[in-house]
Amino acid sequence: MKMKRVAEAFQALEATSRRHGMSGILGKLFRETPKEQIDKLIYLLHGRLGPPYAAPDFGVDERLILLALTNASGVPHDRVERLYKEKGDLGLTAEELAHGSGERLDFGAVFDALNRIANATGAGAHERKVAVLTDLIKRASGIEARYILRILQGKLRLGVGDATIMDALSEAAVGGRGIRERIERVYSICSDLGLVGRLLLTQEEKALDTIRPQVGKPILAALAERLPSPDAIVRKMGMVAAEPKYDGLRLQLHKDDAQIRFFTRRLEDVTGMFPELAKATEHQITTERAIIDGEAVVYNPETGEFLPFQVTVRRKRKYGIEVMGARYPLRYFAFDLLYFDDEDLTQKPLSLRRQRLEEILRWTAGDPIQITEQVVTDKTEELERFFEENVTRGLEGIVVKRLGGVYQAGQRNFNWVKLKRGYHAELRDTVDVVIVGYLTGKGKRARFGIGSLVGAIYDPEHDRFRTVTKIGSGLTEVEWAEMRRLLDENRSSGVPGRVDSSIVPDVWTEPRYVVEVRADEITRSPRHTCGKVGKEPGYALRFPRVISFRWDKGPEDATTEQEIIEMYEAQQLVAGEAPQRKPGGPKRAA
Ligand code: AMP
Repeated sequence: MKMKRVAEAFQALEATSRRHGMSGILGKLFRETPKEQIDKLIYLLHGRLGPPYAAPDFGVDERLILLALTNASGVPHDRVERLYKEKGDLGLTAEELAHGSGERLDFGAVFDALNRIANATGAGAHERKVAVLTDLIKRASGIEARYILRILQGKLRLGVGDATIMDALSEAAVGGRGIRERIERVYSICSDLGLVGRLLLTQEEKALDTIRPQVGKPILAALAERLPSPDAIVRKMGMVAAEPKYDGLRLQLHKDDAQIRFFTRRLEDVTGMFPELAKATEHQITTERAIIDGEAVVYNPETGEFLPFQVTVRRKRKYGIEVMGARYPLRYFAFDLLYFDDEDLTQKPLSLRRQRLEEILRWTAGDPIQITEQVVTDKTEELERFFEENVTRGLEGIVVKRLGGVYQAGQRNFNWVKLKRGYHAELRDTVDVVIVGYLTGKGKRARFGIGSLVGAIYDPEHDRFRTVTKIGSGLTEVEWAEMRRLLDENRSSGVPGRVDSSIVPDVWTEPRYVVEVRADEITRSPRHTCGKVGKEPGYALRFPRVISFRWDKGPEDATTEQEIIEMYEAQQLVAGEAPQRKPGGPKRAA
C-alpha cells in the first residue's frame, strides 16, 4: 500500500468529527491494507510504532528535523528556518519543501524507516537519524511529508480513539458491529490493538481466543462505578468485600522471574520510578510469574500518614528517584491477583483471587508491599462503620467489590463501586476533566496569556468530549505558565475532532491532558454541553479549582457524562429534592 493512500486517509480523518464517519473511513482503509501491515497501521494511527507500553521514542528534536529538511530540499538552512517561523508548524513547512512524487513510497517502508530512526542510539545516532529522515523527505510528496513529521514530533492528532478503531475493525472483518464486543474483550486483556487487528484480519475470528493475559503486557484496569450510600451498595451488590480507597497511583505489577515491570492505567511503563518496589517484589512475591493490581502511595515516615496523589507522582521526575525514595517512602497496596504462574484468574471470582493473592504474597507490617485490608459483609451498618473509620483516618473513602465478581478489564460497572467522602454533604468528590482549550483571560493573568481552562467530561457511548466547566483557579503562577506551554504544543486549528462545545475558547487544544478538579456543586447550565439534549440545559461545575495534574489518566479516563449526572442526582437527594430525570444516560442519536 502506498503511503499516499494512508496520508490521504489521515487527512480525511482530520476533517471528520463524527465517530461514525471516522470508522467508515478507517474500515475502508483496513480492508485495503495488506494484512501483515494492519498492526503497523493501527500503531501509527496513534503516532506510535507499537502498543503504548512498548513503543520506542523517536529521539528527534526540532533542530534535527530542520537539518533533514535542509538536506532534503537543498534550500538554504536560514530560509528553511524562516519558513518554519512563518508557518509555525514543521508538518506544514515540510509539506511546502517536499517535492518527491511519493509514487514509490510504500507505507511499510515508511514504518521501517521510522523504526530505524527510533532505534538509532549510541555513537553516530544523530547522523543516522538525519540521514534516514533526509532520504524519507526526499522521496515524499507534500502530504506524506506533513504526516511523517507530525508522527515524529508526537503531534499526529487524528482524533481517533480506541473505540473508533475497534468499530472499524469489526466493520472490516464482518461488515458491521457483529464482533465489536468480542474485539473489546480481547483488547482489554492484551492492551495491544495492533495485535488484535492483525489476528482478526489475517486469521479467522476465532484466532482472537488465543489472546490470553501475558506477563509483560498490561491488562486494562477495572474501574469503579459510584453509588450514593452504604445502603444503596448493599441493596445493589449483596455480599461485598470493602477496602480502603487510597489516593495514590494505580500500578499493575508484572513479575516474570527476575523481570519486574510496573504499568500505569494509561499503559505507560514506569518501572524506573519504583526501584524499591522492584526489589521488594523479588522477596515478597513467591511465584515465578504474577500480575498484580494495586495502588502505590507515599507516606510520611514520621507520622505514618499517607500523602495525596500529587506527592506520590513527584517520582515521575526522571532524576532524584533515590532521594525521593528516602524522603517519601512508598507502600504498594496489592488488591487483586490477575494471573499467576500459568493460570489466568481474571474470570475467577474475587474471593478466590484474593485467597491466591494471600498465598503468594509474603509480608509483615513494615514491608513495602502489603495486601489491602478487607471487610466482607452484606450489612449496611458494618459498611457504614468501615467507611467512617477510613474517612477518619484521612483516606478518600472505600472501594466496595462484589465478592463473586470477575475482573472486568477496562470496564466501569457495578462489580466495583467507590464510596467517597462528601457524597453525603456538598460535592466533596473530585471530577477528572480533559482540557479542550483555554481563554487568554483578563487582568492580572492576561500577562501569562492564559486565564482559564475549558474542561470536558467523556461520553464513551458516542466517543465525545463535552464541556462541563471553565476553571480559573487552583494553579500557581509557575503552573499556569507550564500549563500554557503544554497546551500550546497541543493546539488545534479548530474545534478538535471529538469535542462538543458551545463555548469558543481563545485557543482550542486536542483533548489530551486530564486535571482533577474540586467544585462546590453541580448545577444545570445552558452554557455547557455535558448532559445537554435539545433545549434542556447541560450540567456545570460551580466554583471549580484544579487539585492535581493527572498525567496517569488518558482523555478517555476522564469522569463520564453519566457519572456527572449521577453525582448531580445524589446531590439533589441529599438536598431533599427528587431527581427529575429517568434513570440512564441522556438519550441521543448514536
Ligand atoms: P477514581 O479514580 O476516583 O475513579 O477511583 C478509582 C481508583 O481508586 C482506582 O483506579 C485506583 O487507582 C484507586 N484505588 C484506591 N484504592 C483502591 C482499592 N482498594 N481497590 C481498587 N481501586 C483503588
